[in-house]
Amino acid sequence: MYCTVVTSSRSAGIGNGLTYESLGQETLGSAVRVPLRNRIVEGIIVGLKEEQAQKDYDLRKVQELLDEKPLLTSSQIATAQWMSQYYMTTMRQALGVWLPPPPWSRVLPKETIGYKQGTAPLDILRGKRQIIVAEYVTGKEWVSQDEVQRAVGATTDILRLLKKKGVISEERRREVRAQEWKDPINELPKLTPAQEAAVEFIRKDTRPSLLFGVTGSGKTEIYAQLIADTVREGKRAILLVPEILLTEHSIDRFERLLKREAIAVIHSKLTERARREEWKRIRSGAVSLVIGSRSALFAPVRDLGCIILDEEHEWTYKNEQTPRYHARETAEVLARNSGARLLLGSATPSLESWARAKNGMYNLVRLPVRFQEQPMPTVRIVDLADVKFGKLYPFSPPLIEAIGERLKKGEQSVLFLNRRGIASALLCLKCRRRVVCKESELPFTVHHTSNGRPYLLDHSTGIIAEVPATCPHCQSTELKAVGAGTQKVEALLKTLFPSARLIRADRDTMQDALGMRRILSAMRERRADILLGTQSVVKGLDLPQVTLAAVLLADLGLSLPHFRAGERVFQLLTQLTGRSGRAMPGEVIIQTFRPDAPEVLAASMHETEKYLNDELKLRIYGEYPPAATMIRFIVKVEGAEKRAKKLFADTQKAIMEERSDAKVYVSPTFFGGNREWHVLVRGSSLRPLLRHLDLQDVTVDVDPMETL
Ligand code: ADP
Ligand code: ZN
Repeated sequence: MYCTVVTSSRSAGIGNGLTYESLGQETLGSAVRVPLRNRIVEGIIVGLKEEQAQKDYDLRKVQELLDEKPLLTSSQIATAQWMSQYYMTTMRQALGVWLPPPPWSRVLPKETIGYKQGTAPLDILRGKRQIIVAEYVTGKEWVSQDEVQRAVGATTDILRLLKKKGVISEERRREVRAQEWKDPINELPKLTPAQEAAVEFIRKDTRPSLLFGVTGSGKTEIYAQLIADTVREGKRAILLVPEILLTEHSIDRFERLLKREAIAVIHSKLTERARREEWKRIRSGAVSLVIGSRSALFAPVRDLGCIILDEEHEWTYKNEQTPRYHARETAEVLARNSGARLLLGSATPSLESWARAKNGMYNLVRLPVRFQEQPMPTVRIVDLADVKFGKLYPFSPPLIEAIGERLKKGEQSVLFLNRRGIASALLCLKCRRRVVCKESELPFTVHHTSNGRPYLLDHSTGIIAEVPATCPHCQSTELKAVGAGTQKVEALLKTLFPSARLIRADRDTMQDALGMRRILSAMRERRADILLGTQSVVKGLDLPQVTLAAVLLADLGLSLPHFRAGERVFQLLTQLTGRSGRAMPGEVIIQTFRPDAPEVLAASMHETEKYLNDELKLRIYGEYPPAATMIRFIVKVEGAEKRAKKLFADTQKAIMEERSDAKVYVSPTFFGGNREWHVLVRGSSLRPLLRHLDLQDVTVDVDPMETL
């Protein structure tokens, strides 16, 4: 037997593993020690074969198997293989997300010394104590040193002597710690008939299911039921959420479902050590449910029965570092490899999932009504171009009135802010002039992409520009964005409503789960009237007393030349409508400069399905994902422009040679100055093109989310 071993050492050129002669005990995923040059290094088995393709007489042998139990299961190894092929990385890079940092022996259970019966007969013994100890060990499969010492008072001297005489033999074993929970279920959910029907649809289909449920329909209860199903079958589940710190309330929900000891919560704030401990605990089998953000998909869960992605449309499921995987795609492969069920849940499915549901690859399960048939909120659109603000920008009179009404009735409001506050002008501190759009001569406003990179937007023309390094009027470098930041909005609210109890929720006030908990309980216990938060923080909250949700400026991204921009705005606006009226009738206000945008209209009428179908038609017509595949080559080397243009030309040549329908573009990236360029290819089948291209010094992003 031969095996392919990916070693923990990062030497170049062996990222896909080396061949060794096997010990005969390894399986896929086993951790081993192997010789590499003049050292012994750790490795993991990623392939096993009977025969060697070419005979290699210098073939070295695996030195040692670290643990009888493999570190990763064969389905996990197969999924890593898929990742390395699909996302074009080495196997070591793909495995990197599945394993804690080496040495891997650290994550194995500790070794325990123990004894078995030896080859020599007992009657060679004289001493009474020796005989007692030897008799205790004889006939047992294996006894730990601890046990013989406790049971019959064996001293280390006696044990050493018996070993020397061959009456007993020493054997080290890995401690078995699997504290499996016979019945980890605390309390089953009580489903409504609509939820019950949805669960039945999911249960009886073997395809991945897309649970398309309006906001407030109780998707969480459905997840809980499926997790309970899985645990009852003696299997385990993974629940992925877009961002773990924002998921406090749903973690509470699962702690009511399962015993706390049977749950592992993985998040980015864990120390490396805590992460390793959780990894060990999960691998030992003690955990029935792993909850976490995208990387929790790679937890060492055996007997995986179910993977759930909550809010499957969220962009945080895409990893923007090598390996640049998408958790949804990868989950689909892992589920298939492990025979596990896959459930994707969303009120605004991604176009990718929607297309698959439409063509029958996914089982589409609808949950069209809110829990207890609560009506969807009414939505008002305020055209900001019509409003004379005076000093009150960005509060329009209808919004001020609506907030005032809530205060009078003792109900609550949630206000969505853009990521870092409201559109502001770019002001030169030297000449005191604002940076204006050349076309309209109106001041640009400063915006931020989801990655926090700033850009300029002229709302009247939709023209976009980079943030200049110097003032176009006086060349000073002292440019500053001024306008309504979160703090300014907060101050304005205080003057408008002096008696209102206000909470601000953004990344700074909510560094951790505790901050989130505090805010949630203040709102639930009515110790606050208004929650002012950045969009990413407040979009998922379940607060029953909120009857007004408003977005102060809903233009973010609408004008960016990005084929997913509209989808994203639509998702955000629908999340906004999801915050209001969850337990009593509610209202939503959308303030925007673009009242006629299809995203704004569809979200205001709760026409998600129509929006998705229309958008899908546009993608098909324009040959954009999901109607085509897309690959992005990012060039960041010295002389990026020249290199990118060469790659562009090579790609064009490859397209001709392969008679491909692919389209290719080259440009500097929007935010990379001129130092970063990219080549974007899209078409029905791109893989055949790749073998014509030299991609050594290029970052390959398969199915990119970021295309600007
Ligand atoms: P979604 O995630 O679909 O927006 P949630 O799962 O947050 O909706 O549910 C909305 C609200 O309705 C929550 O407060 C939840 O506790 C409640 N709810 C939903 N289904 C049930 C149920 N079967 N029994 C009790 N409460 C439910
Ligand atoms: Zn100036």
